[in-house]
Amino acid sequence: MISNPTSGKRENYLNWNDFFMATAFLVAKRSKDPVSQVGACIVNQDKKIVATGYNGMPLGCSDDEFPWGKKTSNKLDSKYFYVCHAEMNAVMNKNSADVKNCTIYVGLFPCNECAKIIIQSGIKEVVYMSDKHAHKKETVAAKRMFDSAGIKYWQYIPTDEKVVIDFSEINWNEQRQVPETPQKMSQQD
Ligand SMILES: [Zn+2]
Repeated sequence: MISNPTSGKRENYLNWNDFFMATAFLVAKRSKDPVSQVGACIVNQDKKIVATGYNGMPLGCSDDEFPWGKKTSNKLDSKYFYVCHAEMNAVMNKNSADVKNCTIYVGLFPCNECAKIIIQSGIKEVVYMSDKHAHKKETVAAKRMFDSAGIKYWQYIPTDEKVVIDFSEINWNEQRQVPETPQKMSQQD
């Protein structure tokens, strides 16, 4: 473990950008989409997370009944008409009154539809990891709107390739043991 020689403070802790992007990647793991799992994390100016979201079917539209396919002869049988993108879900699921002046961290550059939602919600900054659809018209349109609306966007390069979540770092089994002494004391009371 690396720590500061003067104070002893641990130094290899997650920085804010890594933490928020890692949160977006973690919530993406909730997605049922077999091809594309995208997560988003909205952060306010106090560095507090006010929303997360991942791509999924609308409320009441069963993950098991609605289609997840991409290439179907009838577009009604593909996912495109139905799936809500991560950014939309994050904005709609916010636990704050609004997301004005917030920053959204998202795994993939927003599409044009999500760009509109981001702009209208008052979000002022977009931090993304992948811009793999940069050539698509949806992305070009999104950037055009962001530029016009004064939304800052920038690609985040993570400090490390991986952030590992290891449940065994804390011995949860040991913590679950009930201490004996307090029990005896309470019996005496
Ligand atoms: Zn979108």
